[in-house]
Amino acid sequence: MKANILEHPLIDHKVSIIRNKKTGTKEFREIVSEISTILCYEATKDALQKEVEIETPMGKTQGKIIDENQYAVIAILRAGLGMVDGMLGVIPNAKIGHIGLYRNEETLEPEEYYFKAPKNLEKKQILLLDPMLATGGSAVEAISMLKKDGATSIKFLCVIAAPEGIKRVEEEHPDVEIYCASLDEKLNDVGYIVPGLGDAGDRIFGTK
Ligand code: URA
Repeated sequence: MKANILEHPLIDHKVSIIRNKKTGTKEFREIVSEISTILCYEATKDALQKEVEIETPMGKTQGKIIDENQYAVIAILRAGLGMVDGMLGVIPNAKIGHIGLYRNEETLEPEEYYFKAPKNLEKKQILLLDPMLATGGSAVEAISMLKKDGATSIKFLCVIAAPEGIKRVEEEHPDVEIYCASLDEKLNDVGYIVPGLGDAGDRIFGTK
């Protein structure tokens, strides 16, 4: 599997806190945001850089900057919204899009109910967000929608991934790189990640 899994004691520490069912909404939300920032650092390691001249209080030097406009952050509703602030903390000028999908109870496949993406997707590096990569159904559908709208460069960022979800994204969209803070054991029979952290949307928004 070619997913990039963050390996750091502080990440393990933070993931352990959000797994705990006793962790409240505020702390859960803050930690999802912090982890998203770190995922963002990892996923932007290959950012295009430009040399600039800077004058420090000590004199002139060369520095490197990135064009933040090269990034489009796309949240899969609703749990992906919980990752947006963490991304904007480090790329504040990134453009933002939203994708809404619901599960068709007959086909069990995800179907679109909302799609709004920034213009010129073909020129953007897309960072697609959903905290949980479970069956991979929503991720695969969201990636297909973005590609249909012109996207050519997509990275998928999640907090927790199941092997089944990684496999499905890799099979259907082998060009998409996955970044996650933890690769968990498996899915249960209703599609939840085990051990996971429960329903990420409910825990971010306090709706349970
Ligand atoms: N979505 C969630 O929020 N949690 C899971 O475990 C799987 C999908």
